[in-house]
Amino acid sequence: MVRRDEIRPGEVAVEPPAATDAGLVFIGRIRTPWTDRMDCPRQGRRDGPVCRIELFAPWDGGLDGLERYASIEVLYWLDRSRRDLLRQSPKSDGTSRGTFSLRSPVRPNPIGTSLVTLVGIAGGVVSVRGLDCLDGTPLIDLKPDRCGFTPLAPRQPGDDDVDTGRA
Ligand code: SAM
Repeated sequence: MVRRDEIRPGEVAVEPPAATDAGLVFIGRIRTPWTDRMDCPRQGRRDGPVCRIELFAPWDGGLDGLERYASIEVLYWLDRSRRDLLRQSPKSDGTSRGTFSLRSPVRPNPIGTSLVTLVGIAGGVVSVRGLDCLDGTPLIDLKPDRCGFTPLAPRQPGDDDVDTGRA
């Protein structure tokens, strides 16, 4: 994993194609104790410090019901990452692996995800434990943890599809 935007022995960078806008909307910002990548946890922990997820208007109006879930999934945009590495050397020892076999922040679309423990929701702010991002990281989405979530919509045929061995 790149820690200071450096290229390490064994790593491979490419010239990425021009971005085509996926139309992402940042719906908030995440407040954490970490201002330097070197201080951030590599992965959040459920007993980590409480972090504040601040929703922007009007998206703060969409939080109703989230309080039912003890565990939620947070998606965020790792905005200070380089995005051009095909191979990375997390151990800095000359060995490298493909970007998509890692959870490194360095990826063509630097989306981070964490399963976090809900601490509370008040005034458009969701307080959680379990994050690992820098202070000010843009928020992409919040969802209930899929393990604790049963779809509220009526079942539909595909819900019962199982592998039949036929392509
Ligand atoms: N838990 C997420 C995941 O697995 O998708 C992110 C894991 S990533 C390894 C976490 C690291 O990303 C942190 O240790 C820090 O070095 C880096 N990082 C955190 N916030 C960042 C940001 N806003 N921009 C760039 N890098 C960031």
